[in-house]
Amino acid sequence: MMSQNADLQKRRVDAVARGVGNATQLFAAKALNAEIWDADGKRYIDFAGGIGVMNTGHRHPKVMARIQQQLDAVVHSCFQVMPYEPYIELAEQLNERAPIEGKAKTLFITTGAEAVENAVKIARAYTKRPGVIAFGGGYHGRTLLTLGLTGKIAPYKIGFGPFPADIFHARFPHPYHGVSVDDTLQDIANLFKYDIEPSRVAAFIIEPVIGEGGFVPTPPELMRALRALCDEHGILLIADEVQSGFARTGKLFAMEHYDVKADLITTAKSLAGGMPLSGVVGRAEVIDAPAAGGLGGTYGGNPVACAAALGVLEVIDSENILARSTALGNDLAARVGRMATDSALGIGEIRHLGAMFAFELIKPGTANTPDPDAAKALTVKAAELGLILLSCGVYGNSIRVLVPITVEQEVLDEAMAILEAALRAVRG
Ligand code: PMP
Repeated sequence: MMSQNADLQKRRVDAVARGVGNATQLFAAKALNAEIWDADGKRYIDFAGGIGVMNTGHRHPKVMARIQQQLDAVVHSCFQVMPYEPYIELAEQLNERAPIEGKAKTLFITTGAEAVENAVKIARAYTKRPGVIAFGGGYHGRTLLTLGLTGKIAPYKIGFGPFPADIFHARFPHPYHGVSVDDTLQDIANLFKYDIEPSRVAAFIIEPVIGEGGFVPTPPELMRALRALCDEHGILLIADEVQSGFARTGKLFAMEHYDVKADLITTAKSLAGGMPLSGVVGRAEVIDAPAAGGLGGTYGGNPVACAAALGVLEVIDSENILARSTALGNDLAARVGRMATDSALGIGEIRHLGAMFAFELIKPGTANTPDPDAAKALTVKAAELGLILLSCGVYGNSIRVLVPITVEQEVLDEAMAILEAALRAVRG
């Protein structure tokens, strides 16, 4: 008998666009907290969390209860037609909690890319300037504006240009691979000299911890330097927290780790525990620059998604998720650190901010030569053994952990044993 996975894969190839890549050919049938089952009934531990969406776990009962309650009330009315309370209540909570200078206001839309698009629209409306400076290896989405901001050609940008004008990139610092904060600042100085005068730049956009680019935290001195450049030239600072936000780094907002503030913060993914929802939180004066009618979207801030997000905040508060995120990150670092003492396993830099954790696979015996083939082989082997793992990074050799912060201790223990067994099998 053909497996359900194999049968679905055949139908998927025939019916669905090739351009959507699949990390696995395992079809999700059911999930709970940090566990997920495929169409053939096989169980996996989920270290991907639907790419960073499940910080509070799959189908958390408190989130499910909020969704159910909202399903019984209103599923959609469109906020621009008949607004509703969950949107307002969620905005109030984010305004209260986000690290924004002075009064904050919020806009909700649907996807991370849409949040970034809107942050740029708002920055342009406020500054009346066109330019945006982003960073190499950064990821901001797949729509044409955000793809322009995304700093990686393969596989994201191939064949989709031209991209919008007045977008520029500086290198993102990563000393392990030879790029310093000074290099980044020199790149920005060069942009100001060769490409665009600072008085035409609306915003810098940076991920506090670069996500797809390899889970490298932005050094505090770079964030400070960017803030200083912003203040000097009237530029806005946009923090893209789509992947790093909502408790992943041990804080509700990753910008809480820094001693300077962003003008606008984008949020999505774990904000609503699996429902499609994104937001832009920012200085009220900035967010209010576009005139009424300039922002929005049919589904933006859908009531069921806002209700889910209110449930996520309830879980974060009542289940001590921020402290658990910090502890989880330290635990992962200690465990992978112990594995790394076996040099045959080829584990390179281990890095994390809270539970936003990754390690590099390098060619064994080298100082830091990326080994993307090993990363690929590891994700395949881990899935075989029952662990869903994702790679990332500009060299494709980092293994990232986005396990629910609510993962049970025994499930985590089991996952780490699988991880080690899979890596030994790959290196064996
Ligand atoms: N910004 C960052 C930092 C992201 O990690 C992502 C998604 N990986 C996006 C934006 C785009 O989000 P979405 O896929 O929801 O459009």
